[in-house]
Amino acid sequence: MCGIVAYLGKKNALEFLIEGLKILEYRGYDSAGIAVLNENSSNYNLEKSAGKLVNLINLVENKDIKGHLGIGHTRWATHGVANNANAHPHISNDNKIILVHNGIINNYLELKRKLKEEHNINFYSDTDSEVIANLISVYFKECASIKTAVIRAKEEIKGSYALCVISPEDPDKIILTSKEAPLIIGLGEDDELYCASDSSALLKYCKQMIRLKDYEVAELKKGGKFEILDANNNLVKQPNIQILDHDPLHLDKQGYKHYLLKEIYEQAAILRKLFETHFNKDLNITFPNLNTKIFEGINKILIIACGSAYYAGLAGKTFIESLANIQVDIEFASEFITKKNLLVDDKTLLIAVSQSGETADTLSAIKLALKKNVRLIAINNRPESTLASLSKDSCIFTQAGVEVSVAATKSFLAQMFCFFCLALYLAEIKSPEKKEALKKIKLQLHLQPQIIEQILARAEVYKQKILPFAEKKAFIFLGRGINYITALEGALKLKEITYIQATAYPAGEMKHGPIATLDHDVPVISILTNGDVYDKTVHNVMEAKTRGAPNIAILNDGNDELDKEIDVILRVPVNYEEESEFYDLLSPFVGVVPFQLIAYYLAEYMGKDIDQPRNLAKSVTVE
Ligand code: GLU
Repeated sequence: MCGIVAYLGKKNALEFLIEGLKILEYRGYDSAGIAVLNENSSNYNLEKSAGKLVNLINLVENKDIKGHLGIGHTRWATHGVANNANAHPHISNDNKIILVHNGIINNYLELKRKLKEEHNINFYSDTDSEVIANLISVYFKECASIKTAVIRAKEEIKGSYALCVISPEDPDKIILTSKEAPLIIGLGEDDELYCASDSSALLKYCKQMIRLKDYEVAELKKGGKFEILDANNNLVKQPNIQILDHDPLHLDKQGYKHYLLKEIYEQAAILRKLFETHFNKDLNITFPNLNTKIFEGINKILIIACGSAYYAGLAGKTFIESLANIQVDIEFASEFITKKNLLVDDKTLLIAVSQSGETADTLSAIKLALKKNVRLIAINNRPESTLASLSKDSCIFTQAGVEVSVAATKSFLAQMFCFFCLALYLAEIKSPEKKEALKKIKLQLHLQPQIIEQILARAEVYKQKILPFAEKKAFIFLGRGINYITALEGALKLKEITYIQATAYPAGEMKHGPIATLDHDVPVISILTNGDVYDKTVHNVMEAKTRGAPNIAILNDGNDELDKEIDVILRVPVNYEEESEFYDLLSPFVGVVPFQLIAYYLAEYMGKDIDQPRNLAKSVTVE
């Protein structure tokens, strides 16, 4: 997690550091800090402040901080509470090494003890990062080169890291290194060099970038010069320079009060764009960045993801199993890596889903699976991400634009959409004779954006219906079959942005235990859209009602048979033209949107920090 920025050029470094941190703040907002080396002297400014970036901005506002080289950080705490002492940058005891760090150093306690005992070093924070600053300083004392000191330190540290290291003793250089944490060098105009942990911070300033690979060390020097050493410390003669070209509009809320709301409202347009990308005028399916040879001879499909992307994966499993009649396994990435026996091989198709493409758990799982020669497809929102580079010619891009709000909304719908295309494609290659029948479902998919727009037009109605529940301490979400996935994502949204306890159960499971928790203070929210599972879900909702739980349900327009039974009805339009074998498969596309909206309006009413909820961060780059 965390945001890292660095600058070395002719301008005042502070300007980019603050602008870059503003863009990266969504990656961590426990504290923020900067260090700027002053020109032609060994003086420096090191400023840091607990809490949001605004505290740092207020701190530096009236200070005269001048220098052409600096580093900055927004923190998502892993070791040590969110206070000033633990904020980055960290400085070594002898004040000679200053660094910012993203990641976790696994052996920091052992190194800390060694540094204390053998070098008499004191520690002023609880972080693992301060330990590395001191380790580098010990080597710097011996070799007088920051680069060599960093190389020696990287041999000793275990864990994940993106590091930007500077020294007032050698004020013309920034040394970078990374392992399992993203770090990007940006090439600016006029011999300027930038660095960031996420390319979005570089968009305004650079047209080209280089992504550091694991264990590489880069030295940025004055005059736009730089040098990269590979994992074996040999010079990289031709670094892979990539073009930076995605939409820089993401920092504009475009009149919405929060990014989250803006992103909810973007969903219909994103699905339209995806439809245009994946279907030609004859409704044949194409994947522009996917070599479809990858499907030949597979005997297993495994989906790997975390958080909302995992729920999109669950929807993907249901789509592929229902339409293509192929069994699909799914694992949380963080659990997959714990397995003693990875039951995958070169005939396994691994589908990894990550909005950012930097999710550490997912990347670790992929790396393990790739050792077993699996075939990898990535469903990913960021073409310049580590995941995209790992999956090379096998990406399905969600094209959702940068998602700024920490809680996923538009990326979730876009991921489900991509899975749906994949399921249709697999169904067609497995059973070409079904192609004509599948056309109906494609047309139904085409219908979803306009249905979503109709749902969004009802936002105010949902808001008025949900606000009376703002004082409740817990909610239960129920759904059966495909609607259980909607329930899971609905409960997650509510938890993430309101901090209210919310749990989702398959509706039929409630009577096997959770029903004991029901009373008049625990509302039950269920999905009762038309479909095969409707009747049975109604029974479960009635069981909850009998126990005194207030009930809220999503129902389709035109279904009034439960008007007397359900306390609060959130209506959605019917999202199919005629009933067919799979007509209810697309219900999560419409079921999730009211859930996003009710979570948003409850959080807004409760005065929560909607775009940056407590304890969370976007792009989870630690395991
Ligand atoms: N482990 C470091 C800390 O807790 C870095 C955390 C981060 O990536 O923001 O300070």
